[in-house]
Amino acid sequence: MTIRNGVVEAIGNTPLIKLKRASQETGCEILGKAEFMNPGQSVKDRAALAIIRDAEKSGALRPGGVIVEGTAGNTGIGLALVGNALGYRSVIVIPETQSQEKKDMLRLAGATLVEVPAVGYVNPNNYVKVSGRLAEALAKTEPNGAIWANQFDNTANRQGHIETTGPEIWQQTDGKVDGFVSAVGTGGTLAGVAIALKGFNPKIRIALADPMGAALYAYYTTGELKAEGSSITEGIGQGRITKNIEGAPIDVAFQIPDEEAIPLCFQLLEEEGLCLGGSSGINVAGALRLAKEMGPGHTIVTILCDYGTRYQSKLFNPDFLRSKNLPVPRWLERDGGLKD
Ligand code: PMP
Repeated sequence: MTIRNGVVEAIGNTPLIKLKRASQETGCEILGKAEFMNPGQSVKDRAALAIIRDAEKSGALRPGGVIVEGTAGNTGIGLALVGNALGYRSVIVIPETQSQEKKDMLRLAGATLVEVPAVGYVNPNNYVKVSGRLAEALAKTEPNGAIWANQFDNTANRQGHIETTGPEIWQQTDGKVDGFVSAVGTGGTLAGVAIALKGFNPKIRIALADPMGAALYAYYTTGELKAEGSSITEGIGQGRITKNIEGAPIDVAFQIPDEEAIPLCFQLLEEEGLCLGGSSGINVAGALRLAKEMGPGHTIVTILCDYGTRYQSKLFNPDFLRSKNLPVPRWLERDGGLKD
């Protein structure tokens, strides 16, 4: 019998899934790390667990304490579920633009949800800054204290990927991985996996896949943080150098428009049975670009970040797609969307 002792031990060790069409088209082996198979259905379970374990170790998080975080949703879901399993309450600050499904899941998991307008990081009412202030206030009033998870600048996040995601990819490919590509939210995944893989073999090529509206593509190509355009993807698209992305060994950056990424989500669902969120589309588009740049015969790994049902009301909603001038998949057009 193989038994995981609680949900915490069910986080990580996700499979690597060969993406058939992407591999055929490029002559490379394109592999997706199935992070949607984590208990909270996203890659962010890893960061949530790493941050909680680090705060326990330092003594900042005490039994019965409160975890406060600003999040696009997935980190909050991870914190709420792991918190429930380990005896912590969670208070989550989320921009109101994020999908209803993620907010519903947070409430379902028992998190206290604080919705705030979506304003940029320079604005003091930005969700990250609100969460920091809230944590400070609750630390004074909560009987068992409160911590701020601070996923963007708390490097326990990327350390979790250095210790788990990176070595898993190395072992699962028998050291044959040639390239790794990922989008950036906090940067924990890209930087952590990049640092781990370069430690095993410095020749492994590391690529950033940046959505429109993010500033890192410009940063890694021209040295200037500059954003243009916008994207319907959630959880990715960074405008500053977070502590987690700082110093990441990135070799090349690609800028991926939604028109390139979103149809890949539909194709992966229709042809390969993979139901994924929009950031996975950006990642797979990035893997295709890296494969074309490196040439046939290479093994390229990317992240399948979260499960698609989390975006049924947007990414898989014909009305929403039409409003953004994005193509509507045939079967959603035919069935009118969410009806069965
Ligand atoms: N995809 C999704 C759906 C996410 O929620 C996130 C995290 N916000 C990411 C990708 C990016 O991960 P990271 O924070 O490790 O850069």
